[in-house]
Amino acid sequence: MMENRPDILQDVEKIVHLLQSRELDNKKSRWQQLADRVLAGHRLSQEEALEILQSPEDQLVELLSAAYRLRRHYFGHQVQVNFLINAKSGLCGEDCAYCSQSAVSKAPIPKYPLVSKERILQGAELAMVHRANTYCIAISGRSPADREVDQLAEAVRQLKSRYPLKVCVSIGLLSRPQADRLKQAGVDRINHNLNTSARFYPRICTTHSYQDRLATLEAVRAAGLEICCGGLLGMGEKDEDVVDLALELARLEVAAIPINFLNPIPGTPLEGVWRLTPRYCLKALCLFRFAVPKAELRMAAGREIHLGPLQPLGLYPANSLFVGGYLTTRGRDPQEDFQMIEALGFEVVSHGVHLFP
Ligand code: SF4
Repeated sequence: MMENRPDILQDVEKIVHLLQSRELDNKKSRWQQLADRVLAGHRLSQEEALEILQSPEDQLVELLSAAYRLRRHYFGHQVQVNFLINAKSGLCGEDCAYCSQSAVSKAPIPKYPLVSKERILQGAELAMVHRANTYCIAISGRSPADREVDQLAEAVRQLKSRYPLKVCVSIGLLSRPQADRLKQAGVDRINHNLNTSARFYPRICTTHSYQDRLATLEAVRAAGLEICCGGLLGMGEKDEDVVDLALELARLEVAAIPINFLNPIPGTPLEGVWRLTPRYCLKALCLFRFAVPKAELRMAAGREIHLGPLQPLGLYPANSLFVGGYLTTRGRDPQEDFQMIEALGFEVVSHGVHLFP
């Protein structure tokens, strides 16, 4: 009997420990429990993803808190700032319904061919002034001409020798040789957004396909470049489309996810389409954090008009934002963003330097 006692005590201890941890789990919200599982390597299922997006409003704080745990685990209190230049505007032959630069848009936007190397270098200077970690160079169009890729590669070579900026290039459908040339020039990352699900894609664009976009992402990966690939919410897609996109991005293991909220620019086919609420936008950000927990998750275009006064809460799931504006629309004053970041107790990380204590 005495000989067995230590074993019995050990068993009792194990049971008590198990019960205590079960009790703890019961006290934890379902979102915190899901965060535990994601931190342990669980990949979000379709059902779980949909539950996040359709979670009751009175669970929003719990959901944000759980998403924040994931963000804090991988990024601490750091905020990555991105600065964008539209290096070629309008003049596009594609028909993306959301885009003011498309062939079917009547939006009165500036239209110009690829800007000079000097202008791209000036943009890099502005990115430094705006404390950006990443300088994003975008050009309109289905895909770039080889001549444009060479011009951009030369500009990137020079800016990399002058500035400690990460460079992300967003220039449409790319072939493998084009991706290789950009990689050799020092480009770190290519942005190419899937925007929505494969199912909904034909509703927003008929001149190229979701598969075309996936092929570009494959070329980018094969060239050894990081993938930045995001979404655009509020175009009339279903929750299931947002879920499919999130799970696709998880499958692709993308490095960065910009989430755009539709700005229904007058003159575009989606003019007047307003479907998002601030709380839905927050749930969507949480979904992408849960689905791809290690990715740089960015609040992108439309955050000002759709999240409104709830913008600061977006930085609990997200750890990245654009400052200074977007392709054809202006953002808010960057000082307001820096004040928001400081008020949250977060820090801008720029070139490895922490800019707020
Ligand atoms: S999103 Fe790109 S490809 Fe589509 S219309 Fe706009 S510029 Fe053209």
